[in-house]
Amino acid sequence: MLPARPFAGRPELVGEAPRRRPDPRWWWAPVGRVPGIRPAQAQRAATFGLVSVGDLLLHVPFRYERYGAATPVAQAVMGQEVTVRVELHSIRMAPTRRRGLVTVRALVGDATGRLEAVWFNQRHLLRALSPGDQLMIRGTIGAGAPRSITVRAYELVGAGGSEGLHTTGLVPVYTATEALPSVRIRELVDRARALAATAPELLPAWIRDRLGLMSYPDALMSVHFPRAAGDVRRGRRRLVIQEYIELQLGLLLLRRQEAHERPAPRLGGTGETAQRVRGALRFALTVHQERTLREIGRDLRREVPMRRLLQGDVGSGKTLVAALAMCQALETGAQAALLVPTETLAEQHLQTLDALLAPAGITPVLLTGKVATAERDRRLMAIRTGTAGIVVGTQALLSEGVAFHDLGLVIVDEQHRFGVEQRHALSERALDATGRAAHILYMTATPIPRTLALTAYGELAVSTIRGRPAGRGPVATRWVRETERDDAYAEVRAELRQGFQAYVICPLVDEGGSAEAKAATAEAERLRSGPFAEFAVGLVHGALKSDAKRAAMAAFARGDTDVLVATTVIEVGIDVPNASIIVIEGADRFGLAQLHQLRGRVGRGARPGQCIVFGEPATDDGMRRLEAFTQTGDGFRLAELDLEIRGEGSMLGLRQAGPTDLRFARLTRDRRELAQARQIARRLLRGDPDMTRPEHLLLRRAVEARFAAIPRLLEA
Ligand code: ADP
Ligand code: MG
Repeated sequence: MLPARPFAGRPELVGEAPRRRPDPRWWWAPVGRVPGIRPAQAQRAATFGLVSVGDLLLHVPFRYERYGAATPVAQAVMGQEVTVRVELHSIRMAPTRRRGLVTVRALVGDATGRLEAVWFNQRHLLRALSPGDQLMIRGTIGAGAPRSITVRAYELVGAGGSEGLHTTGLVPVYTATEALPSVRIRELVDRARALAATAPELLPAWIRDRLGLMSYPDALMSVHFPRAAGDVRRGRRRLVIQEYIELQLGLLLLRRQEAHERPAPRLGGTGETAQRVRGALRFALTVHQERTLREIGRDLRREVPMRRLLQGDVGSGKTLVAALAMCQALETGAQAALLVPTETLAEQHLQTLDALLAPAGITPVLLTGKVATAERDRRLMAIRTGTAGIVVGTQALLSEGVAFHDLGLVIVDEQHRFGVEQRHALSERALDATGRAAHILYMTATPIPRTLALTAYGELAVSTIRGRPAGRGPVATRWVRETERDDAYAEVRAELRQGFQAYVICPLVDEGGSAEAKAATAEAERLRSGPFAEFAVGLVHGALKSDAKRAAMAAFARGDTDVLVATTVIEVGIDVPNASIIVIEGADRFGLAQLHQLRGRVGRGARPGQCIVFGEPATDDGMRRLEAFTQTGDGFRLAELDLEIRGEGSMLGLRQAGPTDLRFARLTRDRRELAQARQIARRLLRGDPDMTRPEHLLLRRAVEARFAAIPRLLEA
C-alpha cells in the first residue's frame, strides 16, 4: 500500500502549483530558469555546484533548526528565543562601546506589545527595511523598555518567499559557503518548491509498496520543508533506499556480467606444491588463514570466475595465503599473477615470494614499468610461453602487450588503492591466450566494515582473516605533545641503540610531488644533524627515481640505515621485521585507516612494536580520531570509528570516488536500508534481468549514469 502523501491536500506547504502540468524536464533545467531566481543568484549556485534544478533539490539539509510557531510579543518570555510576527515602526543605527561595531535598532511590535530589535553590524538594513514593513523575527528576548530582541534570523514578509521560511517550524540548514550561505540556498529551494512536485519518479510502484516508501516528489518536499521530524525521517529513508538500490543494481550487474561472459579454468590442484611450501615454514597457519584458504580453494575449482575480497588487518598474514593460492593454480598448470600498487611493493613481494616458494623450486618473475627493454622482452616471452609461472608486478602487468599463456589467477594486493572501475577494467584484461577469464582475489589490509563492504564491494564475496599470528601483540601507540618531543626522541634513540630500527613518517603535503620531497628532505636533514646525529638516517619519498628508492629501501632492510625518513610511499606492505618503532608526524592529517597501515610497519618481528604520533588537530573530531587511534589496535574497530567520525566518502579515499559514492546514505546509520535495498535489487534482476520493463526504465538510466565509467552494464 502506498504511504499517505503528506503534502497532498496541504497546498499551503506545496506553494504555488506550477502553472503547467508537471514537466519532469524541469529537473534538468538550469537553476536560473526557475521563476523568481535572479541570474546572479543562479550563477552563485552554479559556482557552488548546484547547476540544475535537480542538483538544487538533491542538495538536502544536513540538519534542522527547531523554531516552532510565532508567539505574540506579550507572551515572549525574557531570556528565551522566540519567533514574533511584527510591524516595523522605526529604524536607526547606534554605535556600541566596542570600536568599529555598530548595531542597527528597530522599534517593532504587534497588537500585543512592542520590542526593540537589535542587529549587530548590518548597516545595510537601514536601506533594506523601512517603517510599515511586516517582519518575522527569530531572536532572544532581553531586558529594557521596551524589551529587546537580539535577532538571529529574520525575514521580510511578502518579499516573495514563503512566510516563516527562515523563522518558524523546522528550518533546514544546508551545507553552504560564505558566497552562498544556507539562507540563500533555503530561498532558492523555496523558489523551486513547486518543481519538486515534478521530480521524475525512479522507483516503480512495486518497490515503493513493498518498502512503504514515499514518492520521490513527496520525499523531496519532506526533507526540504518538513512539518515534523517524522517527515524528515521518511523522506530521507526514501532517498537513502533509492541510492542503495541504484548502487546494488550496478554492482550486481557488474558481477553478473563478469561471471557469465567467460568461464574460468577449473584449478583443482594436487596440493603437492603447497605442501612443500608449508613444510618449509617455521610456523603453522592460523585457523583464519586455513579457513580463507579453503574458501579460495573452493572458488578456484569452479568455472565461475572467482571475485573474492580477502581482508585482514595489517600483519595478519595475507601474503602467505596468497602464495598458497598461487600454488594451487600452478599445480593445475596455470599461471598466477600478483598485482600491487607500487614498484617498491612489487620488489618486496618478489623477495617474499621468492623465499616462500623456493622450497617448491618456484622462481617468481618481476614485471614493472622500470624493467629494461631487453630484459623485459625476455620476461614477456616467458610469460607468453608459460615458463614464468608466477609473475609479480604493478599495473604494467595488465597493459597491452603483456600476454599470458594460461593466466588462471590474479591476486591484487592492497586493493583499497583501486576503485570499482579499476576492478572492472582488471577483470576485462585478465584473460589468457584462449580468452578464458582469470580468477581474481583482491586483498586489502584496510579492513572495512561489513556494511561498507556491501556497498563498495557488493559484487565480491568476502573472506576475512581476524587477528594476527600468535605471539604478536598490538603496537603500543602514544600521542605525544610538542612539549615532550625531546623525550620521545630519547626513547627512539634507546630503541636504536639496542640494534632496532625506526621509521619517521613526514606529514602529508597537499601539493605532493616536489613540495613533499622538499619537506621530507628537510626533515631527514633536521634529524641527521639533531636528534639522530649518531645514527645512519635514510630517506625515501615519491619523487625519487626508482633506483634511488630501491636503494634506500634495501639499505634499511639490510640494516645499513637505522632510521628511515619516509613519506606515505611506505604506507603499505613494507616488511622489515627489525623495525620496531615508528614516529608519525602531523598525524592529524592522515585518515585513521592510513595511520593504522603506517603503524603496521612495526611489530612485525619478535620485538613488540611502538608507535609515536605527533599532531595538533584543529577540530574536536581530529582529537577524537587521534585518541581512538591510541586506544585501539584493532583495524576493524578503527575502520568503524573512522567511518563514524569522518563519513564514508573520505574513508574510501579519493581513489575510490565514483559510482560507490554515497550522497544520502550513511552506512553507520542506514544499515537496515542497505539490506532491504540489496534484497530489492536482487528481486528486481531476477524478474527483469536486463531492466527492460517500462517501469524500470528510469531506474536503469540512473544506474547507467552512476556507473558511467563502466561500459556495457546492460545488454541492448
Ligand atoms: P599482511 O597481511 O599485512 O600482508 P604479511 O603477509 O606481510 O601480513 O605477514 C606479516 C608477517 O607475519 C610476515 O612476516 C609473515 O611471515 C608472518 N606470518 C604470516 N603467517 C604467520 C603465521 N601463521 N604464524 C606466524 N607468522 C606468520
Ligand atoms: Mg601485505
